[in-house]
Amino acid sequence: MSLTISGIGISRGIAIGRVHRLETSTIEVSETSIQKNLVKDEVARFRRAIRTARQQLKAVRNAIPESTPADITEFIDTHLLMLEDSMLTVAPVELIRQNLCNAEWALKMQRDALARVFDEMDDPYLRTRMDDVDHVVARIQRILIGGSSPAGGQSDDQLRGAIVVAHDLTPAETALLHHQGIAGFVTESGGPLSHTAILARSLGMPAIVGTHLTSHQIRDGDTVVLDAGRGVLLADVTESTLKSYRRKQRERQKSLGELDRLKSAPAVTGDGISIRLLANVELEEDVRAARRAGADGIGLYRTEFLFMNRSDVPDEEEQLAQYLAVVRGLRGLPITIRTMDLGADKGYAADGGERLATNPALSLRAIRLCLRNTELFRPQLRAILRASAEGPVRMMIPMLSSAGELNEALELIDDIRQELDHEGVAFDPDMPIGGMIEVPAAALSATLFARKLDFLSIGTNDLIQYTLAIDRVDDSVTYLYDPLHPAVLRLIRMVIEAGQHYEVPVSMCGEMAGDPRYTRLLLGMGLDEFSVPPTALLEVKDVIQRSHICRLIPVVNDILASDDPAEIGALLGALNAL
Ligand code: PEP
Ligand code: MG
Repeated sequence: MSLTISGIGISRGIAIGRVHRLETSTIEVSETSIQKNLVKDEVARFRRAIRTARQQLKAVRNAIPESTPADITEFIDTHLLMLEDSMLTVAPVELIRQNLCNAEWALKMQRDALARVFDEMDDPYLRTRMDDVDHVVARIQRILIGGSSPAGGQSDDQLRGAIVVAHDLTPAETALLHHQGIAGFVTESGGPLSHTAILARSLGMPAIVGTHLTSHQIRDGDTVVLDAGRGVLLADVTESTLKSYRRKQRERQKSLGELDRLKSAPAVTGDGISIRLLANVELEEDVRAARRAGADGIGLYRTEFLFMNRSDVPDEEEQLAQYLAVVRGLRGLPITIRTMDLGADKGYAADGGERLATNPALSLRAIRLCLRNTELFRPQLRAILRASAEGPVRMMIPMLSSAGELNEALELIDDIRQELDHEGVAFDPDMPIGGMIEVPAAALSATLFARKLDFLSIGTNDLIQYTLAIDRVDDSVTYLYDPLHPAVLRLIRMVIEAGQHYEVPVSMCGEMAGDPRYTRLLLGMGLDEFSVPPTALLEVKDVIQRSHICRLIPVVNDILASDDPAEIGALLGALNAL
């Protein structure tokens, strides 16, 4: 009988292949005494492992394609730097000599000592760097015990076409595994909105996360089917199931190939309604992918990535240079620059080591953090305004929740405008300012935001997190993540209606906008601007072109009137089959 393992599909598509298990979870090591005359050999063995680890990581670094986001390569550089640091190269040697113990044990003792130091740090960002130490230590330990390496240790032949099953994968490992030709991956932990998930989607790789306990149920070498669209991994499948999945895979391949013709076609529905189809980007290089996919512009540029993976804060000039590079790269297409959405899981260097919040996602995040720390915010506002002199730039404020907050932000922007005017620095005085609706309070009072802003954008990732009270990075509750929950749909509808009432454009830039299963639902709700990952753009455009909004509206109204998940699911199926 076939075995079905469920998780969260974070991209779509089907992969069929052999299982390749990556042992990325904790490594058990034990203490062994070393005779005094053998200490020299043990130290040499440890140093050889460090050299091998460096070689492995350099190979990983060289194998990563140039198009890989810079923060991923920086991540590997950080690990390489750690392998040069005396805390990992010299201290364990001292421990081997003092304690006459094996290298593995010495390294473990040093790791535990570092963990204690990191634990006592007030700065939440620095505390998260312990994860990097753990990754590097695990790599060295695997070399010492001669076990299977984390990503980067296998030959391409072993991995080509394989479905990797791991406890968890870092974004860097994901990029490398993709380069090594894996067909897809399944991880026990992780949520659909993690950095690894966003990367898998950008790379168009079928993947499932948050499956829990997969490794006990799946054996190395088993042939499995990974159906990311359904979020399932099937093992022990019959020949006829395999055949049917191969057919589905071919059909999907064929239809994706056919979508290329849509690159230069307009996003217009069958009944002639024009839809703006924009792209989400995190890094400057994503802009090329957005242009290649034929995006009408950028609907979400996540600037906080500029502040992450570094020990300092980019100043106004550095930010300006970055924004201008993106604006110029777009050659006249519009861009929506979101002010930094730092805080919660997105740590940055100079957050002053403030107390660690009990609920970081409900704490000083995004605009709250910016208004509290205007020293950090002002240079960004200046840089965005200055960039607006060179192209069609819109500014977007994340996580707004009240009128007071909105007024304070708008006053600050006004103040910066006057400052730049006074200095004779060029900027677009009419640069549109918009806000993200991602807190239920903001959705419920969307008219307030629509009255005062030039545009709204619905951030469903957070709107769902806050509406359903599910931490988006906690995989134990991702099973509750449900864009079709009646509460979520009603909030979305309220925001769209508020925009229509005040004639303010409403866009959606959360992941829901990039999932073609929901395109018709959103069209029928009146959404006319979508901002999606570049890899999802053509599929969404295809659905738009094959839809007649007038036919969608009655079914969508039935969906909105229902509070029965089964009925909503069935109606959505009917909508997508129209
Ligand atoms: C969202 O919350 O939907 C969103 C687009 O913002 P982010 O995912 O960056 O929080
Ligand atoms: Mg958000």
